[in-house]
Amino acid sequence: MSFHELPLGERLLIVRRGTSYFAQRLSELTDAELDKPSLLSGWTRRHLVAHIGYNAAALCRLMDWAASGIETPMYESTDQRGREIEEGATLSPAAIRNLFDHNVARLDEKWRNLPVSAWEAEVRTAQGRTVPASETVWMRTREVWIHAVDLGNGGRFGDFPEVVNEGLLSDMVGMWRKKGEGSGLALSVEGHKQVEVASDVAVTTTIHGSLPVVTRWAAGRGGVGVSISGAGGEPPRWL
Ligand code: ZN
Repeated sequence: MSFHELPLGERLLIVRRGTSYFAQRLSELTDAELDKPSLLSGWTRRHLVAHIGYNAAALCRLMDWAASGIETPMYESTDQRGREIEEGATLSPAAIRNLFDHNVARLDEKWRNLPVSAWEAEVRTAQGRTVPASETVWMRTREVWIHAVDLGNGGRFGDFPEVVNEGLLSDMVGMWRKKGEGSGLALSVEGHKQVEVASDVAVTTTIHGSLPVVTRWAAGRGGVGVSISGAGGEPPRWL
């Protein structure tokens, strides 16, 4: 069963587990360690934590939109999104941690209190996709689990629930297909049916491995544990 087919209550449980997973990694970092680079190029851990805090705030705006019917976009602009992360990264460590805790609690409260009928209300993502409000749960799931790894202090794709790795991989393949990238690439995940990115093109590169390591590779977070047959070895970008 895919993430989207799970009952809402189970999806909310998975996103809360992801939030706790991120919070745990964050609590293990000293204030000084927040100044160090994250695994995302150009971003310190401060940037990453500020981003995760502001992402929750942006998703709160979508929940308000769903509840009220009054359009409140995630961000005014891509500029605004970038600027608040840059500014957020300059806050004191205590303020950055508080930004995370505060917005996580707000988002969870909005999820808990949304009337059942409003979960199907349509809202728009920062990428311009129109989605039901319930999609915010998956959007946040992706953010908290992957960025917990990006903190670079022990988070692992191997710790993710299987249904999260499956959903991530399927999102990435879907994005590559939409952008016309990754033709000739096949993903051979242990225990899963092989997936060819483009079905009408001969396979030139096959990535083999367990679900977590192939997902990690596909997310552009390194190829430890995958075996690659054929040419290349760099995944196409998915975001
Ligand atoms: Zn992100």
